[in-house]
Amino acid sequence: MSAFLKLLFRNRLAGAGAVVLAIIVVLVLLTPVLPLQPPNVTDTADRFLRPFSEGHLLGTDHLGRDLLSRLLWGTRLSLAVGFAAAIVAAVLGAAVGIIAGYFGGRIDNTIMRGIDMLMAFPYILLALAIVAALGPGLMNALIAVAAVNIPFFARNIRGITVGLAGKEFVDAARLAGLGHGRILLFELLPNVVPVIVIAMSTTIGWMILETAGLSFLGLGSQPPQADLGSMLGEARSAMITAPHTSVVPGAMILLIVMSINLLGDGVRDALDPRLKSGALSRPMAATLVERERVPEARGEGLLDIQELQTQFHVGRRIYRAVDGVSLTLEPGESLGIIGESGSGKSVTALSVMGLVASPPGVITGGAARYKGQDLIGAKYPRLRSLRGDRIAYIFQDPLSTLHPLYRVGDQLAEAILSHHSVSKAEAMQRAVGLLEDVRIPNAENRARAYPHELSGGMRQRVGIAMALANEPDIIIADEPTTALDVTVQAQILALLDDLRRDRGLAILFITHDFGVVGQLCDRVAVMYAGRIVEEGPTAEVLDDPAHPYTARLIACVPELGQGRREMAAIPGLPPAVDNLPEGCAFAPRCDKATPACRAGDIPLAGTERRRVRCIHPETDVEAVA
Ligand code: ADP
Ligand code: MG
Repeated sequence: MSAFLKLLFRNRLAGAGAVVLAIIVVLVLLTPVLPLQPPNVTDTADRFLRPFSEGHLLGTDHLGRDLLSRLLWGTRLSLAVGFAAAIVAAVLGAAVGIIAGYFGGRIDNTIMRGIDMLMAFPYILLALAIVAALGPGLMNALIAVAAVNIPFFARNIRGITVGLAGKEFVDAARLAGLGHGRILLFELLPNVVPVIVIAMSTTIGWMILETAGLSFLGLGSQPPQADLGSMLGEARSAMITAPHTSVVPGAMILLIVMSINLLGDGVRDALDPRLKSGALSRPMAATLVERERVPEARGEGLLDIQELQTQFHVGRRIYRAVDGVSLTLEPGESLGIIGESGSGKSVTALSVMGLVASPPGVITGGAARYKGQDLIGAKYPRLRSLRGDRIAYIFQDPLSTLHPLYRVGDQLAEAILSHHSVSKAEAMQRAVGLLEDVRIPNAENRARAYPHELSGGMRQRVGIAMALANEPDIIIADEPTTALDVTVQAQILALLDDLRRDRGLAILFITHDFGVVGQLCDRVAVMYAGRIVEEGPTAEVLDDPAHPYTARLIACVPELGQGRREMAAIPGLPPAVDNLPEGCAFAPRCDKATPACRAGDIPLAGTERRRVRCIHPETDVEAVA
């Protein structure tokens, strides 16, 4: 809730709208106890008094009634009727929409054709017809305004519900034996409430205007009762001679509708998850780079990442997701990056190719050299020509990276065609060849399947095939097996290992599982809170972990046939990277920590082969090497 308010008030206009509306609401709530003159007592001797006259702050109207008093009582009535109409329209419209959307078929058809019929009439004409049928009066005006707004809510909510009703959680609720009523109330309704609130906040102002319009025409509130519309209507004849009588209610209508609309827009923006944190502003084609200093080239490796720093600038906060990471990758080598979720592994990998979304991502330092050429800050066409061609990515969930509406063969062919000028048929043939390379049986046939027709393991094979499509030098695999079960994971790892040996691929393999690192990686780098805390050959690190964090991570891996070894989860959580502690970031969770650990920066020390960032390492890395 407080996050919502913070977002809301970040929008200055919405904040101003909220303040103005709050003042008006407080005033009308207090109206009965304020020392006002009675609103309906006429005094013909004091007709059309100007504002600021004795005893009448806003003057009087054509019957000598106090305008301030009528204004507040009238606003009270107009707001009440407008809100009531909005609530009635929202509740009925949402109910109709949710039922039509959930049941579908004939029910949906019948209901929605009725709604269409309501929508076929011009808005205000329909309201007029309803009031004409029911007779003038405020209550009937309320009914008319609510009725003409029901279709708007019904259409909106039905659209959302149709999408939700096909989702797995609704199926799950059905399988659990829940009845329609409970599914509607507890599964669907909570999901559409934000939409209802948004639709309401953006239409209340409109409904208040409509009610005022009906009253203005004499169809709403009846004399002597004041509402804003009827005050305007009565002042019409004296518009020239006593303009204040129309300006006063007119200005109030303007204030109310403006403030509600500004606030409503703000509420919509704050509630819409896609608009949060300004994510709707499209990310740039490549990550923003703001480097003061470029590290000297070392001339090492196929890929050489040096002191990479990537941050997220959100509002005034700075999240140091990657803070000075250096890694090298030789041709044909497999390097593992391991760490808990949130330690900065993905951001490291994405930074290399400028794939971190900006805003909010900014690369603030370091270099990433591919064959000696820095990719950080490289021109977009250069990055584009390398992406998917020389350096390819495999992601965790291929279902979300494959396009759901295209056959996998076509998608593979597209990956080839975007970097090579070959014929469509040739690309297609290569696509089938790739599917065979990743051991997909009956590849010819499978190339014509859609992503949803394949199992998780198959899809990940397609993901790997796509990464291989242009015979890259480097594959960056970001937790490619995390979504798979253990047997499929083993197959995928074996496949990657074969491909690497056959083709001399270099693999940067990201995972949180030391078991996986042990199977595939020659070397491993352990990340914690955006920094590398230990690095070395996999076997040595597994046998003799030096950093207490590494040791704890290894202790988390269950071993088959090792009896009842105690599984040691690491207590506590990784720190938030916008507010890192001084010194070692792991110190708060480490049982070896001393005050020295919290005092200052600890360097990544050791030999070329084996390094650790710890002043109380479990083993002496220099001695081991
Ligand atoms: P992982 O090691 O699990 O792959 P990530 O590299 O995805 O972790 O994330 C590293 C850190 O960056 C996390 O602490 C996360 O909170 C932060 N982060 C990632 N994306 C954003 C973002 N858009 N805005 C702010 N912080 C982010
Ligand atoms: Mg990740």
